Amino acid sequence: MANGIWIITENYRGLINRVAYELLSKSVDLNRELNQKITAVIFANNDINISNKDLEDLIEYGADEILTLSCKDRALGNIRSKIISKKIIRDRVDAELLFRAVLEYNPLIILAGATSYGRILMPIVASKIGTGLTADCTGLRVEGENLIQIRPAFGGNIMASIECSKKRPQMATVRPGTFKALKRNYKTLRDRLEKGGIRSFIIKREYHIFDNYRIFPEILESYDETRDVNIANADVIVAGGRGLGKPEGFELLKELADKLGGVVGASRGAVDLGWIDHSHQVGQTGHTVNPKLYVACGISGAIQHVAGMKGSDTIIAINEDPEAPIFDIADYGIVGDLYEIIPAVLNELR
Ligand code: FAD
Repeated sequence: MANGIWIITENYRGLINRVAYELLSKSVDLNRELNQKITAVIFANNDINISNKDLEDLIEYGADEILTLSCKDRALGNIRSKIISKKIIRDRVDAELLFRAVLEYNPLIILAGATSYGRILMPIVASKIGTGLTADCTGLRVEGENLIQIRPAFGGNIMASIECSKKRPQMATVRPGTFKALKRNYKTLRDRLEKGGIRSFIIKREYHIFDNYRIFPEILESYDETRDVNIANADVIVAGGRGLGKPEGFELLKELADKLGGVVGASRGAVDLGWIDHSHQVGQTGHTVNPKLYVACGISGAIQHVAGMKGSDTIIAINEDPEAPIFDIADYGIVGDLYEIIPAVLNELR
């Protein structure tokens, strides 16, 4: 019988992607009905290079245990750690490790962030196992032991509820920012953390994967993940829309974002005009974000945009139309021309 909820803990150079904490928190929520063990799965090479504090956070956000998976084949293990920026091989190695672990432990549910990493890892494993996978979920709930996976379908015009009732594990990727990362307050686990330390939560498994894994170094692609805009994890987002009037408007927003220690976001209106890459898009067909501060500049506040940013702690809207719907959800609204307001704000920040 399948047992356990597994959360894929994506980490890059020792830093855990915040989506893992969001998924752990959601698992605690789902677990009120499921009553399963929640496991944070980490791909590690021989030893974990993640700080103890970050590992303890996994417990605080919902993990009952941490399962680390690594290659028994020393050569391959070394390859994983040395060429971590060579994304393609890392994803394949991790997929093979996860596949082996699933065969051994038979989990009920596996969740990963719908990041570029999760979007590659999860389909490989799902197809090897022969189970279903719902990509890019924006909601999750349970009915009995079935995970109801909710995501936009038909171009975002309807929300589909999908279940995988006949196969196990049930697998889904979830957009970063969809759920809030909330620390739980479990005294027993805290006591255990104090007594046994984080190591008492860690289960290590190593697998030989050399036998059915071949490496073709000549076709490896180098991929630097730091190039990706980390919009889903950002605390501050300065987003621009069609109201910018021209692609160069994003340079002004970048200046403000840099000053505030944030990143640049965009509406689909601006992305569709080719002013900025889709990786910056916020909304129903872009990223779901919940930063501490969201500054919407020249964005009207269409329902599909708001769907992706309404969870922000504080929203400031700059728009020349006092009737723009963005003001309905903004905590602070500035009516006026963004090309006058933003330079004035930058001047104040100097
Ligand atoms: P507009 O609606 O044109 O708004 C521009 C705003 O700028 C106006 O309010 C105007 O008053 C203001 N303005 C103009 N000049 C200035 C100035 N100088 N200073 C200050 N303000 C100024 N949209 C998304 O954003 N994300 C999505 O993920 C998304 N997914 C979608 C999915 C579907 C299925 C569909 C049908 C639509 C989706 N959309 C999405 C599109 C959405 O409906 C809107 O068309 C889009 O958000 C509008 O972008 P905008 O606010 O930049 O442009």
